[in-house]
Amino acid sequence: MSQFRQTAPALKNQYDDDRVLRSYLERVLPADVLSEIHDSLSEMGRLAGGELYELQLADRLNEPTLTQWDAWGNRIDKIELTPLWRVAERIAAEHGVVATAYEQRHGSLSRVHQGALAYLFTPSTDIYSCPLAMTDGAARTLLNSGNQALIDRAVPHLITRDPKEFWTAGQWMTELTGGSDVGLSETLAKQEPGSNTFRLYGRKWFTSAIASQMALTLARPEGNPPGGRGLALFYLETRDEHGSPRNIQINRLKDKLGTRKVPTAELTLDGTPAQLVKGPVEGVRNIAPLLNITRLWNGISAVALMRRGLALSADYASKRVAFGAPLSEKPLHVDTLATLQAEFEGAFHLAFYVAELTGRSETREISDDDALLLRLLTPIMKLTTGKQAVMVASEVLESFGGAGYVEDTGLPVLLRDSQVLPIWEGTTNVLALDTLRALQSDGDPRQGLRRFEAAVMSCVANVSDDAVRVVRAALGHAASWLADAQGDAVEAGARRFSLTLGRTMELALLIKQAQWSLDHKAINSVRRFASLGVDVIF
Ligand SMILES: Cc1cc2nc3c(=O)[nH]c(=O)nc-3n(C[C@H](O)[C@H](O)[C@H](O)COP(=O)(O)OP(=O)(O)OC[C@H]3O[C@@H](n4cnc5c(N)ncnc54)[C@H](O)[C@@H]3O)c2cc1C
Repeated sequence: MSQFRQTAPALKNQYDDDRVLRSYLERVLPADVLSEIHDSLSEMGRLAGGELYELQLADRLNEPTLTQWDAWGNRIDKIELTPLWRVAERIAAEHGVVATAYEQRHGSLSRVHQGALAYLFTPSTDIYSCPLAMTDGAARTLLNSGNQALIDRAVPHLITRDPKEFWTAGQWMTELTGGSDVGLSETLAKQEPGSNTFRLYGRKWFTSAIASQMALTLARPEGNPPGGRGLALFYLETRDEHGSPRNIQINRLKDKLGTRKVPTAELTLDGTPAQLVKGPVEGVRNIAPLLNITRLWNGISAVALMRRGLALSADYASKRVAFGAPLSEKPLHVDTLATLQAEFEGAFHLAFYVAELTGRSETREISDDDALLLRLLTPIMKLTTGKQAVMVASEVLESFGGAGYVEDTGLPVLLRDSQVLPIWEGTTNVLALDTLRALQSDGDPRQGLRRFEAAVMSCVANVSDDAVRVVRAALGHAASWLADAQGDAVEAGARRFSLTLGRTMELALLIKQAQWSLDHKAINSVRRFASLGVDVIF
């Protein structure tokens, strides 16, 4: 028998151990703010690398269950979450993973603080970020709606730190007819005579976090025209005071590739009571604040999962020996991981830049130009980081060899869970088309692109490096493509164009961070990212 024993990869405190996060926070936060939030981040880093990670590994085979009937033939549609998710809910509330953004103890920078908490929390909780993202998005949407009755009723629950009072929210848009083209939605809303309450009738085809206490959903009030404009945004509570579903049948839970801890259900609404959030039309427009927040969470989740894979892979490389030395001393293995690290760092800075802009938008400290930039960067960031997450997760698995393909290492789930990031909250193509719309926000797409160029160039001002030439060349190509493309070629090229803008902004932000820190690792990531292909337009 071989005496050989392979040491498993291990995690340290995920805040203390994260050069990229710590260096970024030092750059963007005033020293007193950083010192005030240090303990909350260090504690979350400790949980994420310790107790939560151990629980995650122990919980690996558990999945949520749906019990449709009780022993006496009553329809109950009860959802049981896994132990990891029950703990995750408590920790999320107590540590203010949603609340921090609304308490605004540090003004607009509270979004950055919250983003950092979410980034540390997410990879050890098997996509508990999904209900939190929708909870955060629902709070923002209700606050923006000005509907005081609903704000008073729901928002205190959504942003509390008290686990007993904490509610999560669902977002029910996708129907069988389509998740991209939601204007085709068939759910009907019938107003109760003499009342403000509507009753909803229809089927929702993907509803994640179905254990949530409330949801925001789209339905068409009777008599409204077809299309997105004729839909209205509704608020509903999922269960009555006895815990019974309010005329909602959970038909089944989806059997999914990944996100298997997330109870994603197919529903029938059969007279579900609901309130209008903001008028009887324009539901798609009125739910936009929710999507902006969930897309930000999607980007933060993408970088969080990349970081987790790389933390495990780097540790393993120091423990796994091949051809006489640890993998961490093999130039090709080191080179392979450095490429993934550069992709992760680019994605990290883009996601957190969008968090900065979101925070300034929420505290109304944003200029008109930056508000338009945020509108443009949100879809760009979501689609770019989603693609990077899948690529990095796939390579991370390969960096473990066969172990990366074996379930009880806890590694394959990284790839499965990452694969959802380019799909939900708008697929890559749908967001690429949205990028084109965002460029036209004030009428002239060339003006929109010039604003983007100005933001990019402000990151690299006073830097002379070959990487800046790559930035300039990509911007020039994007501008000439936009000026020349005609007819169907505009839509056909939208994905390559949007990815080029995303990667260009990532490189510019990497340069900015490296110039500030003068850290040789950050500088290496700049050089590598610049050579990996920033301009993908052809
Ligand atoms: C795990 C999971 C959980 C989910 N949870 C929720 C939830 O809680 N709430 C919710 O509302 N939805 C949820 N969804 C649904 C998700 O948002 C949709 O699946 C997604 O928006 C795509 O919609 P679809 O599945 O109908 O695909 P389709 O809209 O049919 O798209 C199919 C393909 O066509 C492409 N496409 C569509 N239109 C165009 C176009 N104009 N040009 C080019 N390409 C185009 C898309 O990019 C895609 O590749 C969830 C999905 C998953 C996988």
